[in-house]
Amino acid sequence: MEFPSKLLERAVAEMSQLPGIGKRTALRLVLHLLKQPPERTVYLSEALSDMRDKLRYCSECHNISDNEICEICADGRRDRSLICVVEDIRDVMAIENTGQYRGLYHVLGGKISPIDGIGPSQLTISALVERVKNGTVMELIFALSPTMEGDTTNFYIYRQLGDTGISTSAIARGISVGDELEYADEVTLGRSILQRVPFENSLRGN
Ligand SMILES: [Zn+2]
Repeated sequence: MEFPSKLLERAVAEMSQLPGIGKRTALRLVLHLLKQPPERTVYLSEALSDMRDKLRYCSECHNISDNEICEICADGRRDRSLICVVEDIRDVMAIENTGQYRGLYHVLGGKISPIDGIGPSQLTISALVERVKNGTVMELIFALSPTMEGDTTNFYIYRQLGDTGISTSAIARGISVGDELEYADEVTLGRSILQRVPFENSLRGN
């Protein structure tokens, strides 16, 4: 693609670094911005750089947060005896949207996947085990996607809990294998949390 301007070329090159944005789409977006009042571009770039600079991860649950502690962990009305274990923040958003869950979360940051070189130490598993040992938690709800990596991760955590005496459950598998939580509809996802089963049962089913 030939550009009449180096400035335009650079903007298109940066924009097309984003997933799903090819050079043509990038050019369309950049030209669109050029036609808008200049402040639109300022707001966009400020929003992006503020997000990148200021966004933090909750020191308790590792959810994305504007503060040291996220809004969910800071909310005194949440049930502190429950922790729902999820892969990433999109799962927190999906479960929150169901309005069916009033406990806390723990965001692992991924799943154990030897093929992708992801081991337990790259995830927030040890922090989760510490939370269970030190806190008021009575039940851990595994809500990872029902894939081999999800199952491996659940089982690893289950083993790490050892003799903590905490009960563990897995969300009901109304969601078909291979579906990610974020794509499940709210009713199905809400129901699968309410109808969770003891984790030991899910082991026997495998
Ligand atoms: Zn939190």
